[in-house]
Amino acid sequence: MIEIKNYINGKLQNPISGEWIDNYDPSCGEVYGKIPNSGKEDVEAAYIASAKAFPEWSNTNLETRSRILSKIADLIEEKLDSLAAAESKDNGKPISLAAKVDIPRASANFRFFAHAITQFAGESHESVGLNAINFTLRKPLGIVGCISPWNLPLYLFTWKIAPALAAGNCVVAKPSEVTPMTAYLLSEICMEAGLPPGVLNIVHGLGHATGQAIVEHPKIKAISFTGGTATGEHIARTAAPMFKKLSLELGGKNPNLIFADCDYGKMLDTTVRSSFANQGQICLCGSRIFVEESIYEKFKPDFVARVKALKVGHPSQKNSNLGALVSKPHLEKVLSYIEDAPNQDANILCGGNKVTVPGYEKGYYLEPTVIEVKTNQCKLNQEEIFGPVVTIMPFKTEEEALTMANDVRYGLSATIWTTNLDRTMRLSNHLEAGIIWVNTWLMRDLRTPFGGMKDSGVGREGGFEALRFFTEPKNVCIQYS
Ligand code: NDP
Repeated sequence: MIEIKNYINGKLQNPISGEWIDNYDPSCGEVYGKIPNSGKEDVEAAYIASAKAFPEWSNTNLETRSRILSKIADLIEEKLDSLAAAESKDNGKPISLAAKVDIPRASANFRFFAHAITQFAGESHESVGLNAINFTLRKPLGIVGCISPWNLPLYLFTWKIAPALAAGNCVVAKPSEVTPMTAYLLSEICMEAGLPPGVLNIVHGLGHATGQAIVEHPKIKAISFTGGTATGEHIARTAAPMFKKLSLELGGKNPNLIFADCDYGKMLDTTVRSSFANQGQICLCGSRIFVEESIYEKFKPDFVARVKALKVGHPSQKNSNLGALVSKPHLEKVLSYIEDAPNQDANILCGGNKVTVPGYEKGYYLEPTVIEVKTNQCKLNQEEIFGPVVTIMPFKTEEEALTMANDVRYGLSATIWTTNLDRTMRLSNHLEAGIIWVNTWLMRDLRTPFGGMKDSGVGREGGFEALRFFTEPKNVCIQYS
C-alpha cells in the first residue's frame, strides 16, 4: 500500500488529523494507496510555510529561479518511465500516452516557464510634453492557490505551478484526490532539485475540504483552477467577494466541423484521436461532430469502422488505444448518458457497453461510443459527458454548421476541417471558442493564450498571459525637470 504524503515546508508530512482516503487503481478497481485527508489545519501550515519562504523567493534573481525550475524539468525527463507508469496506474490512461504526452509535457511546462521568465518585461510609457516617464513593475502576487483536475494530472498541475513559481510567487497546490500520485512524486523531485522549503506546498485531500480551504484562505491572493464548470462557479462565488484574482479553465463541448473539401484521410485519422484520446477525457476533445451532408453517408461507416478497431485494454499494455475510465462514479455517469440515448431520439452506431478485460474484471472499461443524433438541442449535445462518447450529425450549409457549433453554453475549443481559406477565416471570426484548430487538433505552442469563453472559463493561461496573471502590475510615474 503506497502512502502519499503532503509536501509542506520542504518536508513530506502526514495529515494533521491522521485521516486518510483510499486511492483506487482504475484498471482493476482495487485500492492501492492512501492519500492524506487534509483539512484547514494542513492548508494553514502550508500557507505559513509559503509566507515564510516568500520574501526570499520573490527576491531570488531570475537566473537562480530559472536554474531551479530547469532542474525540475530535467529530473521529470530523467524519471519519465517511472512517472509515466505511475500516471497510467493512477488514472487508467494507456502508458504509451502518459509516456508520449503527459510526462514530457509536464517537463516542458517547467522548462518553458524557466525560460519565459527571463524574457518577461514590464512596459514603459513616456508622457511626451509632460517631462514624465511611466514604467510598470510586475510584482509577484504573494501566496497563490493552484487546483487541478484528474484527467491530465501532472500535465495540468505543472501548467499552473511552473508560471506561478517563475513569477516569484509561493504556492499552495492541490491535485485531484482521484489522481494524486504524480503530484506526490513531484514533491520528491522538488526536494532533489533544491527548491527552497515552503516555495511550493502540495496538500492532498478532498475538493470540498482541502480545495475549499485554499479558496477560502483570506491571505491566498489568487486561485488558478482547472476543473468542472459547476465547481468553477462555486469557487468564483467564494473567491469573488474576497477580491481574489481568478483564472478558471472549465468544461467544454467542442464542435468538430467537417467540410467536404477537407483532406479526408487526415481528417479521419485525427477525428478518431480527437474523439477518444485519453478515453475522451480531455477538455479539448471534439465531442460534437458535424459533417457536411454530401460526405455524411461516406463518413459514417468509415468512422464507425475505425472506432470499432480501437483496442480497449489494460493501460500497461502498449497496444491499448483506450485504457480505463478514471473512477467508478465517472464510469457510471458516462454510462447514464449512453443509456438515456434512446430517450433523446438518438441512435447508438457503435460501442455503448462496459468492457471486461480478462484478469481485471473490476476495472472501469468502456467501449468507444458513437451516437447519431437528430438535433443539436439534445442532452447528448448540450451537456459535457467527458468520456469516450461522441455524437455525429449532418449539416447542409456553413451557416447551419456555425449556428449549431455556437448553440451551447460552452466555448472552449473548435476544430474546422476544410481547404477553403475564406471559410476558415469566416468561421474563425465567428466561432465562439477560445481555441480554434484548422486541419489539426491539439497542436500546442506554449506561448499561445489557452482558455475558453462562455461557461468554459475566465482568463487565459499560457505564455506571458500566465505570467501576467501571476503578477500584479504597479505603475510608477516620474516627472523630471
Ligand atoms: P472538478 O471540478 O470536480 O475538480 C477539479 C479540482 O477541484 C479537483 O482537484 C477537485 O478536488 C477540486 N475541487 C472540487 N470541489 C472544490 C471546491 N469546493 N473548492 C476547491 N476545489 C475543489 O473537475 P474534475 O476533476 O472532475 O475534472 C474534470 C473537469 O475538468 C471537466 O469538466 C473538464 O472539462 C475540466 N477540464 C477543463 C480544462 C480546461 O483547460 N478548460 C482542462 C481539463 C479539464 P477533488 O478531485 O478532490 O474533488
